[in-house]
Amino acid sequence: MFLILTFVVFLDISSSLSTLFVGYVTYIQFVPSMLGFIDSISLLFSGFILVLVLTILFGRIYCSVFCPLGIIQDVVIYLKRKFTRKKRFAYLKPHNRVRYGILVITAGVLITGSAFLLIFLDPYSLFGKINVTVIKPILVGINNLISKLLSSWFDIYSVYPVELRSVSLSALIFSLLFTILLLWLTLRYARLYCNLICPVGTLLGLPSKVSVFRIKLDQELCTSCGRCSAACKTGCIDVFNRKVDHSRCIVCFNCLTSCNQNGVHYGFSLSRKKELPVQEAVNPGRRGFLATTLGLMATLAGSEKLFAQQHRRRGKGKGPVPVEKNYPVTPPGSLSIEHFNDNCTACYLCVSACPTQVLQPGWLTYGLKGILQPHMDYSTSFCNFDCTRCGEACPTGAILPLNQQVKQLTQVGIVKFIKQNCIVYTDNTDCGACSEHCPTKAVNMKPWRQGLLLPYVTPEICIGCGACEYACPTTPKSIYVDGNPVHVLAEKPKIEKLEVESSEDFPF
Ligand code: SF4
Ligand code: SF4
Ligand code: SF4
Repeated sequence: MFLILTFVVFLDISSSLSTLFVGYVTYIQFVPSMLGFIDSISLLFSGFILVLVLTILFGRIYCSVFCPLGIIQDVVIYLKRKFTRKKRFAYLKPHNRVRYGILVITAGVLITGSAFLLIFLDPYSLFGKINVTVIKPILVGINNLISKLLSSWFDIYSVYPVELRSVSLSALIFSLLFTILLLWLTLRYARLYCNLICPVGTLLGLPSKVSVFRIKLDQELCTSCGRCSAACKTGCIDVFNRKVDHSRCIVCFNCLTSCNQNGVHYGFSLSRKKELPVQEAVNPGRRGFLATTLGLMATLAGSEKLFAQQHRRRGKGKGPVPVEKNYPVTPPGSLSIEHFNDNCTACYLCVSACPTQVLQPGWLTYGLKGILQPHMDYSTSFCNFDCTRCGEACPTGAILPLNQQVKQLTQVGIVKFIKQNCIVYTDNTDCGACSEHCPTKAVNMKPWRQGLLLPYVTPEICIGCGACEYACPTTPKSIYVDGNPVHVLAEKPKIEKLEVESSEDFPF
């Protein structure tokens, strides 16, 4: 159920889900909630505390019930066991140096104020990346095919085509490589990812060791037959020593149902009495079906730069002046590039929620520190003046929610005009697309020569939405937005009163 809800949140192809609903679903996600809490000390981001309390009480149920990446692995394991003859797992030795090493390094980087490693390691963000960069484009393609077939064959127009404005190649390649790695690990070693690489799994394993309720092997009833160990997808049951490694147990209860001696119990950890035998304690079908290296990065970084250069050179414009942006633009509510880089785990929930698709996965837009984090891509679209969705959707506090009045004054970047590139100047022709699209009238058309109007900018009232840049037909662009490293408030546009000079009464 939880996996389906999380899929719905990420695969909302028409960006029409209520952000309140998105908030409910993402509330319980450990890393986003923890980052949001560190940043704002708000109850909105207290889900990770609830997860810690649940772990102290019941063990790592987050890993088997709430973590979408974990549940996906369970689905793969279920399918593998259904369609192959190899149905047995075996006890695996804990790789404590590796897992605690990853946890300590991730925590160390986090203490310096950077979410850098979480971009690659947080299970929720990895799940989001796969959804937005791999699954969503496929879904949009299927939707558009159905829409075309229904409209042309049956005159049914209830399924609308959805425009997919851009697909980030580097984010797509990263997600595909990670998906292959995860599939391979899961098919070969089941939940090894959760107990070797995932820092959330390792962290939750610590309170899980002392949880109030735990899985135990009954020293009298257990015959060391190994059935429970063969059913355990984390390989945490050492039947010979009749011990369970609670730091690796994800309380999936597979072992409980596997034992026909009632030798496995789940119950109060300090109890000396026999707990409820397995079959009575849990519903066996509870979970059921639900149940790059740096070299490559450098190569991809190079190819993205090359693409950007080619992109600049393309087009029909005659302008001689290249666009030089000093800073990328971060979404409204992200406060500054630094705040954004330090808190964004590149889960792409904002990318999925953005109705205009101006938010796009990046690669090295912010340098290595903000690798893969989204940015405002004004070659793809522009930021809707009335919209505040990204801040409402972001679960980590990297983009804080803004009300509409504040959003409409938040200056995320500033407009720059290059007269020498503008087709009014180069071609002596009418244009004004930038002024037409500017919601604040920071671009106006002023009389120039031969009855032509030339854009004139008032940067103080510009909010950096990129509508002018997106609408500008020239290459290189004649008008563009340079990001503000720290967001500021723009001046309120002056509203001029229309003065009607008439002494006559209303004529009708
Ligand atoms: S505020 Fe702008 S960037 Fe954010 S979701 Fe809306 S259109 Fe997209
Ligand atoms: S800014 Fe976007 S990608 Fe980054 S954590 Fe927030 S929602 Fe996820
Ligand atoms: S000048 Fe451009 S970036 Fe600034 S508010 Fe107008 S359209 Fe948006």
